[in-house]
This record gives sequence, structure tokens and C-alpha cells, in this order.
Amino acid sequence: MNTDLIQQPFIKKFPGDFSGNPMQRNTPKVLFATISPAGFENPVLIAFNHQLSEEIGLGKFENKDLNFLAATKLPQNIHTYATAYAGHQFGNWAGQLGDGRAILAGEITDSEGRKTELQWKGAGATPYSRHADGRAVLRSSVREYLMSEAMYHLNVPTTRALSLVFTGEDVVRDMMYNGNPQKEKGAVVMRTAESFLRFGHFELLSAQREYTLLQQLADFTIEHYFPEITSAGTDKYKDFFKRISERTADLMVEWLRVGFVHGVMNTDNMSVLGLTIDYGPYSMLDEYDLNFTPNTTDLPGRRYAFGQQGQIAQWNLWQLANALFPLINDEKFLEDALNGYGDYFWATHDRMLCKKFGFDTLMEGDDEFFTNWQGLMHELQLDYTLFFSRLENIGGDSVTATQEAFESVSYTMLNEEKLSKLNHFLRAYQERFSKNTISRTESISMMKSVNPKFILRNYLLYECIEEINQGKTDLLEKLTIALENPYEERYAELCVKRPSGYDDVSGCSMLSCSS
Ligand code: AMP
Ligand code: MG
Repeated sequence: MNTDLIQQPFIKKFPGDFSGNPMQRNTPKVLFATISPAGFENPVLIAFNHQLSEEIGLGKFENKDLNFLAATKLPQNIHTYATAYAGHQFGNWAGQLGDGRAILAGEITDSEGRKTELQWKGAGATPYSRHADGRAVLRSSVREYLMSEAMYHLNVPTTRALSLVFTGEDVVRDMMYNGNPQKEKGAVVMRTAESFLRFGHFELLSAQREYTLLQQLADFTIEHYFPEITSAGTDKYKDFFKRISERTADLMVEWLRVGFVHGVMNTDNMSVLGLTIDYGPYSMLDEYDLNFTPNTTDLPGRRYAFGQQGQIAQWNLWQLANALFPLINDEKFLEDALNGYGDYFWATHDRMLCKKFGFDTLMEGDDEFFTNWQGLMHELQLDYTLFFSRLENIGGDSVTATQEAFESVSYTMLNEEKLSKLNHFLRAYQERFSKNTISRTESISMMKSVNPKFILRNYLLYECIEEINQGKTDLLEKLTIALENPYEERYAELCVKRPSGYDDVSGCSMLSCSS
């Protein structure tokens, strides 16, 4: 790998704490602290993303590169650091947080000026680890490695993953927070993104009243990641906020399209670039349920439930608006922009739903149609992904749903009453479908491009993690092929609803933040 291409312009540009001191502390007035990774003696490579490595210019993997991927021994040109950010967690201001178990190696810039940042997750403690160890367990690392790549291939904006390495060390975790700490295998993921900047980076500087730095960070972000912004003065920061709002709304609609529930939408987990970031207790939807949250910590209020995500993003943007206020100084503008987010989100959302159903444009009466559909999904406990797969075969033909055809899509018994409701809905669907102005073929190909056949369900991840723990990687390899081709049915046995045996297995339906 061409690791000599990696540079650290961020630490040249901004003030930082260069002491290298690992002691956990607040670091006011700086954006980062330099820190060395723990250095693992016996790392073992579990997975490497060749395609991504080539794409960003790192090239081919050779055995010696394991030292870099595990952060064991680093080349001279790599000066590592962790960044400081703050955040609102579950609706409350949490103060300084920061990269507690992420360490940046720097970035690569390609010939067109596009940047890719590289960071290890789980490579050891930093000044921002807040009494935790900066390590990651294999379980959560496999989940991040596979899901971020699955999202990329679903065409959802996301950070990506370059490698998954077993550290050779154990980590102690109380997985269900019930007083049963256990040893688990430790791992490191090297992940990449155009930038890992979060809402929380801006919140921290604003809270510290470091307004000059706040402006410098905004200017830097706009220059590198928002080239479309050409305005000056306060307009520049207004456009910045508007673009972040749009990117965030686009991302929320994409999550709703594929059935992704993030689980911990704190402002420190919100990317300024509108990327899916920080894969923790997330889940893909099995049965369609707007109230579903996969995160055990979120159960009391279901703040981060599937159907809440669009609104929570708006709440998070409101916190970002407060943080950027010193640069914008216009309450009315920010209020309008936040309301504008709502309009933009719903318009984008409705266009997305239309596509999933194969409708070319939104028509009068569609609101009611969508509401009826949601009611049906909840009542019949239908699988979100499989439902749309089946719909593709229905289209304009007159079809009557049989119990056999839909048994494999529902998580409940489809008795006669339920079947008749389903058939009633399908007739309404066919009628609405017939009003399209595009051909059936065009409709179906539109549906195929937005409705995945394969999604990375939690039970599959659970199985895969069990296997890796036993030293096998067959399922990992199979899942990798499936997730790289989510709009095809590569393996029919992986494109099925969650088997009932997994309903109450922890790590399959519910997950804790422990990672
Ligand atoms: P999260 O809930 O994973 O988004 O993390 C919230 C904050 O806690 C972030 O600042 C993380 O970097 C930090 N954090 C989470 N887990 C660990 C860990 N094992 N070691 C150090 N810091 C952590
Ligand atoms: Mg986080």
C-alpha cells in the first residue's frame, strides 16, 4: 500500500495539543491532540477491502501493510491525532466528547483534489476516551465493517471501511449492562470518509466561545467539501447551513428508503457532510415498524426510533444552528431554514416512496394511499424489504395474494381477515399503478433500482460474528458478495425474513451501546 501518500494538513492548519499526553482531559482552544495508537503485538487480518484501497490510491495490500492497518508500527510520515468535539446526547448537552477510540492517520488527496481521511477505530485510548479504554470488540467492529460497506453499495452516503483486524488482545465488556462483564476479542477497523467532521465539532467551539476558530473551521469545511458555495460574508455561512440541512434531509430519506435505523442519533454522531457515521446499535428493519428502536438505551423514550429519524435530524440541525449563530447572526433566517428543512424532507420523502411503489409522480390521493399502506404494514407485520420485492411482481397484473405467497413476508399468521385486507390494498395499488404515465417496464426498473433484494439483517451479522469467533470466515465472504450486490438476489437463502428462532436473541433484535 502507498501509505507515503498520507498527509496531515489538518494538524498543520489548526491549533492543537502537541504534547502527545494520553491523559484524559479537556483540551480547550484546540481542535485536536496528537496521540499514538496502543500498538498491538499479534494482529491478524480478517478482511481487507481491495476495491476501496485501489479507489483511494492506496493500492495493493502486502503482508507488511498489516502493521499499518493494525496501527502496530507506523511509517515516518504518519503523525496521528484525535479530534475534539462536543454533542447533545439523548437531548441533553454532554459537553466535550471527542474521538474516544478513533485515531486519525491523516488523509489522501487524489489528482482531482478529492480528500479521503483515514482513521482507526479501536486502536487505543486518547485524551477524549473519558475513562474508557479506546478499544473496540470484534462484535462491533464486524458490524461497522460490513454495514458501512452495505450502505455504500445501497447508494446511501456513508463512511466506508478499509480493513478489519483482530488485535490479538481481549477486551472486557458488560454487553447487556447487567453486571456480567466478559472477555471478548478486540479488533480494529480502519475506516475512511471524505471527512469525519461532525455537528459536534462546531458545537464545541461555539460553546467555548472560540468564534475565530469556529469561523476558520467553517471556512475550511466550505472550501474543501462544499465547493458549490460561492457566496461571501454572512451569506456564505447561511448557504453552509442550508446545504448541511439538505444533505441531512437527503440522508434521512435514504435511511427510510432502505429501512436503516441508526439507533444513536446524538449530534456528535451527525456528519456535517450528511454521511452515515458511527455504526453502533443500528439495525435494518425486518417487520415495518415506525416505533422500532434497536438500541436498549433508547427504549424508554424511543427518541431514535425508525420513524422519528427525520424529525430528530431537524432537532439536531437546530443545535447546529445555535452553534453557527455567531457566524450568521440572523434568527429569522435560521428559523425559516429549519422550517424549510421540514418541507424539503417531506417532499423528498414522498418522491422516494413514489419510486418504491413504481409511481412516476405524486398524485392527489397518494397521502391517503401511503397512510393506508402504513396501517397495513403494521397490522399484518409485513417485512419492509420483502414486501416491496413482492410488489414488483404484482405491478399492473390482476393478482390475488395467497397465503402461501405472503406467509414468507409476514411475521404473523395471515388469517382470512388479514388476507382480505391485503388483497383490498393490492387492488387499490393496481388501480393507482394504472394511472402512471410511464410504461410498466419503466416503473418496474425504477422499483428495482430503489428496493433492495438483500439487506444486512442483524441475525445475519450475529451468525457471522459467531462464526468469526470460531475462526471461520465463510459467511463473512458470502455476506460481502451479497452486500456488494444488494439489488440482486445473489443468494436466495439470504434474502428471507428473520427466522423466528432469532426473535429474542440479544444482538439480533435489540442491541446495547456496549462496543
Ligand atoms: P458513541 O456513543 O459511540 O457515539 O460514543 C460517545 C463518546 O464516547 C465518543 O466521544 C466516543 O469516542 C466515546 N467512546 C465510546 N466508546 C468508547 C471506548 N470504548 N473507549 C473510549 N471512548 C469511547
Ligand atoms: Mg460516536
